[in-house]
Amino acid sequence: MPNCLQQNQDRAYWRKCTLSRTRGGRQLSLRPELTAPIIRFYLSDLSNYPMPLKLFCISNCFRYEEPQSGRYREFYQYDVEIIGSEAPESDAELLLLAGDLCRRLGLTEVRFRIGHVGIVRSLLDALGMGKAEQSQFLHLVDKKKMEEAARFLGERKVTAEKSAEIIGLCRLKGDSSALDGIKGTAADYLREVLAIAEGAGTVGMQVDLGVVRGLDYYTGLVFEIDAPELGAEKQVCGGGSYALSQLFGGRPVPSTGMAFGFDRLLLAMERAGNAPAEEGIDAFVLTPSATLRQEMVRIAGKLRSSGIRTEFDLMRRNMSKSLKYASSRGATLAVIVGDKEAANGLVTIRDMQSGEQFTVSAERVCEEARERLPKPKV
Ligand code: AMP
Repeated sequence: MPNCLQQNQDRAYWRKCTLSRTRGGRQLSLRPELTAPIIRFYLSDLSNYPMPLKLFCISNCFRYEEPQSGRYREFYQYDVEIIGSEAPESDAELLLLAGDLCRRLGLTEVRFRIGHVGIVRSLLDALGMGKAEQSQFLHLVDKKKMEEAARFLGERKVTAEKSAEIIGLCRLKGDSSALDGIKGTAADYLREVLAIAEGAGTVGMQVDLGVVRGLDYYTGLVFEIDAPELGAEKQVCGGGSYALSQLFGGRPVPSTGMAFGFDRLLLAMERAGNAPAEEGIDAFVLTPSATLRQEMVRIAGKLRSSGIRTEFDLMRRNMSKSLKYASSRGATLAVIVGDKEAANGLVTIRDMQSGEQFTVSAERVCEEARERLPKPKV
C-alpha cells in the first residue's frame, strides 16, 4: 500500500511495517493492519453512501515482529469499522459487538480496558504542548514506561504537581466510578459510552486511562480486550475512534473501529476448552448400482440445495466400503440409492450412529433427512 505509507507520517505506524524497495526504488509495505486500507476504500468508493457505514473485513496482516506464541509476522485480523457517527452510541455498538462475539465463542473471562486519549491530551493542550510532543508522551504511556513519561514532562518544565496529576491519570484504573470528579467532554463521553454498554449487558469492562493505543490517529475513546487464558500475549482485540480520512486527502469524517486478532481468538478458545469441533457432514449419498450414479448425484444436489451438508461417493466404492468412508467423515446419515428402491421412487436413509434404516420417498428425501438430523443450535 504505497500511498498509505507515503502519506502516513505516523512513526509508530512505520515501525510496524515490513518494508522493502522495488527495483525503481519505491518503498512498499505489506499491510500491517486494516483500518487504513478500509478508510482509503471508503474515500475512493463509498463516501456517497448514507451514513453511518458499517464495514467489516477479515484478512491477513504482516508485521516485523519477534515471533513467539501468539505473536506472528503474518496473522489474521477481523476488523470492524463504523464511519460517519460521532455519537457515543457508535463506540458503545462496538463494545456490544465485541462482548457478544466473545460470549458466543465461550470466552467468558475477557476483560475490556477502556480509556479516552482526549482526557490526557486536554491536560497536555492546557500546558501548551504541541501534538507531536503529546504523541511522544503517549507513546511512552502506551509502552507502560511511566518513569520515562514523568521524566519527559519534567524535561519540559512541567511542575511536579502537574506531572503527578497527569501520570496519576495515566495510571487510573477501576470501575466507572474511577472517573468521578474528572471534568471535561472526553470524560463525559467515556462515562456515557460505559453507561450505554453496561445498560445493554456488556460485562468485564474496566476504566484504564493508561490505554492510549500506539498510533497517532486515535482521537477519542480507545479500548483493548484481554483473554486471560493467553498469558503474555493476551490482547485479543484493540480499537477506538480515530481521524484518518484527512491523511488521505479526504474530508474529516468521524469513525471508530476495532480489530480482533483471529489467531489469538482461536488460541484462547482452545485454552478455554472451546476449540471449534472438526466439522462432520450431515449426509453421504451412495449407490451400489452402476446405473444409478446420476440419480445419486441428483439426490445429493437436492439435499445440498436445501442446506444439508452433503457429499456423495466419488470413488465408485462398494456399499460396505462407502459406508465405512461415510463413517470416517463423521456423516450423521447415509442416503443409499438402491436398485429396488429407485424403481419405486424411494431411497434408504441410514442413521450412522444407530444403524437404523428407513425407506422414504426420493422426492421427500430433504424433509425426511432433516427430521433425522440434530436440530440446529440457536
Ligand atoms: P492492533 O492492530 O495492533 O490493534 O491489533 C489488533 C489485534 O490483532 C491485537 O489485539 C491482536 O489480537 C492481534 N495482533 C496484533 N499483532 C499481532 C501479531 N503479530 N500476531 C498475532 N496477532 C496479532
